[in-house]
Parts: sequence; C-alpha cells; structure tokens
Amino acid sequence: MGIYPRSIENLIRQFSRLPGIGQKSATRVALHVLRSNREMAESLAKSLIEVKDNIRLCSTCFNLTDDDPCAICRDENRSNGTVCVVEGPEDQLAIEEAAVFKGRYHVLHGVLSPLNGIGPEDLKVGELLGRLEKEGVREIILATNPTTQGDATASFLAKILSERDGSLKITRIALGVPMGGDLKYMDRMTLEHALTSRRPINQ
Ligand SMILES: [Zn+2]
Repeated sequence: MGIYPRSIENLIRQFSRLPGIGQKSATRVALHVLRSNREMAESLAKSLIEVKDNIRLCSTCFNLTDDDPCAICRDENRSNGTVCVVEGPEDQLAIEEAAVFKGRYHVLHGVLSPLNGIGPEDLKVGELLGRLEKEGVREIILATNPTTQGDATASFLAKILSERDGSLKITRIALGVPMGGDLKYMDRMTLEHALTSRRPINQ
C-alpha cells in the first residue's frame, strides 16, 4: 500500500517499469503529469498508443519505421553497395545522427549469446545474406559494439558472409582511443585494439 491515492500509485508503478527510471524519478514524472493540463496527458497517452500501432520493422533493413520500406531504404541518393550492420535501432540512429555514413543499414536486433540461448536464427542474419545478391552489395561494415558478444557476432558474420561471397569486402569499425582521449587513462584492451587497428597516415 503506497502513500498516494491508488491511481497515482498505479501511474508511478507504470513509469518505474521503464528502463532507467527508478521509483523516485517515476514519482516525479507521475506528479508532473498530474500537475499538467489534461491536453498534455491526452497527447502523451495518444503518442504511446500511436507508437504501438504505427511503428513496425522495415522489411529490408529491419530498422524501426512507420513506412515500409523505411525512408533510408527508399532514399535513392544513398549508396546501395555498402551495408552497415548494427545491433539495434538505437545504434543505427547514433550513426545516422552523426551524418557520416551514406550507405544502407541492416539491424540485427541483438547479438549472438549462446548462454542466453540466442543463436543466428534469432537475429536478422538470414535476411542479411538474402540482401547480398539482391542489392549487389560490395561491402559490409560490421558495426556491432566492441563487447565480447559484439565481437563474436562480428566474427561469425565475417565468416558466413565470406563463405557466401568470396569477393565481398568485409570491414569492422575501428576500435581504440576515442577523440579527445588520453592514452595514459586507457585500459589495456583499448590500447591493444588501438595498436592493432593502426593505419598508415602518409599515403
Ligand atoms: Zn529500411
């Protein structure tokens, strides 16, 4: 039994189920909604329903979209030959926001995790293989995160992609020292990656 009336307690409980929102934040948000006008509450509720009704996965790249194919897959100004493979929609969004990549994407919706029973059939791997020939893909950029599982997923994909198409260029995003970083504060793994990912600059 909480200290607030039942409907407020209920709202706090709903908000506290969201990722990154603890009991205190949930209470703050719930009280904010309570203090706001009815219009704000209605538009919040409408947005929640709308996102559930309208957002689906693009049938080509499996990015979140309200149109299928998504705006990126429809964009004729983007290069067809290069596909950047990411773990989730938020990774795709981060690269897109940086406005540094003009190719296509493929969202895996996870990484391989044998301990959790997640195998290739649980990710959009077959769908990625299916795009190679169909779209005349010449390069695959493996942009899974530099974690144990992300690295294992990238290695697995590199193997099956090269088996499928020997002439395919397969690259991995560079790992190492971040911009503005300081070598003396880097951990051993980061320094090791930075050294093994080194590239010539005087060409
Ligand atoms: Zn798409």
